[in-house]
Amino acid sequence: MEHKLDKAFPKHQLGRFKNLKNVTSIVLQAILFVTPWINWNGRQMILLDLPGRKLHLFGFTFWPQETHFLFLILVSAGITLFFVTSLLGRIWCGYACPQTLLSHSFIMVERLIEGDRHKRMKLESGPWNGEKASKLLLKWAVWFGMSVFLGLTFAGYYTPIRALFKDFISGHAQPSTLLFVGFFTAVSLLFFGFLRGRFCNTMCPYARFQGAMFDRDTVMVNYDFNRGEPRGKVKDPNAADCIDCKLCVQVCPQNIDIRDGVQFECINCAACVDACDSVMEKVNRPTGLIRYTSEAELEGDKTKLVRGRPILYSIALVCILVVFSGLLYARVPLELDVVRDAKDGVASMTSDKRISNRYNVRIINKQAPDMQVQLSLEGLDGAELVVPVNPLTIPAEDSKSIQVFVLASAEKLKPVNRFKIVATDASDPNVERAVETTFIRGAGF
Ligand code: SF4
Ligand code: SF4
Repeated sequence: MEHKLDKAFPKHQLGRFKNLKNVTSIVLQAILFVTPWINWNGRQMILLDLPGRKLHLFGFTFWPQETHFLFLILVSAGITLFFVTSLLGRIWCGYACPQTLLSHSFIMVERLIEGDRHKRMKLESGPWNGEKASKLLLKWAVWFGMSVFLGLTFAGYYTPIRALFKDFISGHAQPSTLLFVGFFTAVSLLFFGFLRGRFCNTMCPYARFQGAMFDRDTVMVNYDFNRGEPRGKVKDPNAADCIDCKLCVQVCPQNIDIRDGVQFECINCAACVDACDSVMEKVNRPTGLIRYTSEAELEGDKTKLVRGRPILYSIALVCILVVFSGLLYARVPLELDVVRDAKDGVASMTSDKRISNRYNVRIINKQAPDMQVQLSLEGLDGAELVVPVNPLTIPAEDSKSIQVFVLASAEKLKPVNRFKIVATDASDPNVERAVETTFIRGAGF
């Protein structure tokens, strides 16, 4: 008997959609495992450097001040998903989601060790004995090895992967690194070995709201009620095409019966399509009793590809891409922070009777190579900017914090004195950042 949300024991099923999924699984898992090993301009191509608070992405380095880029990337990824979902239902879940693909790899190991569906169910419900213990031990040991490898790979997106593997293999990894890898290992074991489809059914937010993106023209896995019902045995003259063999239910990784209609648990993997097609071929009936189709088509209409919702999503996506490209084009590879330092009083008097204010300045060189940065001030009549070294060398993709002084004659000061500290790339005057701040006269001067 099948129960929704119970542990699933999907039966192995071959077919054209299974082949397609194998191809996407191999390609996407290869991308997942290989990507952190690819260098771009001498640096890991994708690296979220948490201690350094930087994101390295395809040769660009994004700083915390530039989270709008990350935000736009995430929003465009979300809208792309909405667009695809409105056209093809949960195709992402069935063919591209890491949860589905990696769970499949774990299920494949389970099948190789414990056997196909019925043997696995028998082993699960049977009493503990040597065979059960050794099979479970072997399965969890292999899963653990896979999870450690996944843990290292996931951690490799956050910490340089070459050093990570080297330290891990040589036993010189820092406890904090081990903790990080351990966390991802535990998550992999839990999500792909233990939870599998139950993650999609109970924890994935996308599964919950994807229904809002469907309409009657969305193409997804559907059972053709008109052709299939009433179901019955092959030789039953009153039965329609469904012979009630339940193979579609047995192959389902989500433990559902597609003949009950579209359900939020369905990940559109089409295992039931392959299964039913194989049955239809055996009983000499046309394939496609379960197939990718739309509600409109099942009701005798034509599926409309060009319609409001996908058009709206594509317009939103184009707008975001235009904004993103514009921001990237206008991006200045120099950042400047200025904070007035009033720790020991807001102002002091120098030996030549000028008033001095102190400022903490942080200059960021967002990209390679090193940058010579000239500091100057604008808008404070007759004032002098005193900098320990000017121009300053800011190393590639790094920052430097210094203390500077602004000296001004009391007679030239107004009641309120606003001015700018300006940082300029000495080799390219167009690369410039200015921060407005205030000069305080101080009491008694
Ligand atoms: S596999 Fe096809 S024929 Fe068998 S129960 Fe499912 S829908 Fe009916
Ligand atoms: S009902 Fe079919 S398409 Fe949906 S999850 Fe189950 S096997 Fe995959």
